[in-house]
Amino acid sequence: MKAASMAVLTLAVVVGGSLAATDAERAALDAKTIVLDPGHNGGNAASPEKIKKQVPAGGFRKDCDTTGTATNDGKLSEHAFNWDVSRRLKKLLEARGAKVVLTRRHDRGTGPCIDRRAAIGNRAKADAVISIHADGGPAGGRGFHVIHPGTLKGYTEPIVKPSKRLALDMRTELTRAGLARANYIGNKGLSQRTDLGGLNLSKVPKIFVELGNMRNRADARRLKSRSWRQSTARALRDGLARYVARD
Ligand code: ZN
Repeated sequence: MKAASMAVLTLAVVVGGSLAATDAERAALDAKTIVLDPGHNGGNAASPEKIKKQVPAGGFRKDCDTTGTATNDGKLSEHAFNWDVSRRLKKLLEARGAKVVLTRRHDRGTGPCIDRRAAIGNRAKADAVISIHADGGPAGGRGFHVIHPGTLKGYTEPIVKPSKRLALDMRTELTRAGLARANYIGNKGLSQRTDLGGLNLSKVPKIFVELGNMRNRADARRLKSRSWRQSTARALRDGLARYVARD
């Protein structure tokens, strides 16, 4: 074969390969049900009596919800960040044909309680649920981590394995998007927990993403950036696509 036609063939294979991958990614999310759970809510701080109500959390009880954290300068609340990233991600997922359910309708209300957040994912029979957060860690610590459920007898056994796969796929795509793995918590960007009601009560694969540490100056700067939020929302979409494509 002549060099020129070989080059054309190679190009065709490369282009064909990348197009095929894109098609597979698009097809992966089509008609899938994804539940997005933006952590906390804008009205929580003003309603301590409501969010202190004790609710089931997986064999024990816990506060209905919490207020979340904020950047040190007070300019960005975690609930607002979570809400904004969730909306961006919802649009990106819908553009791929996914059915998206949010656990709250806006950022001015209270709750819903953690048991209700889990129930929304269960009722939707979601293929995957992501609870979206940013952390309030030590000022010197930075980076993202993904929280996945540990084994809690009678509760999480059916979701432990698929949730771990979802966590790994999400870590892959967040890392690819340039986010650093947390250096102050968890293990290489992952953290397994059994104390979170939102995970313990889920019957469908579920993770929490802590997209950065709001108390760290470098992370806070990124968390405030619209373009960073958009590229991070794309990474979350790609993590979901990677997970459901394999399912
Ligand atoms: Zn949070």
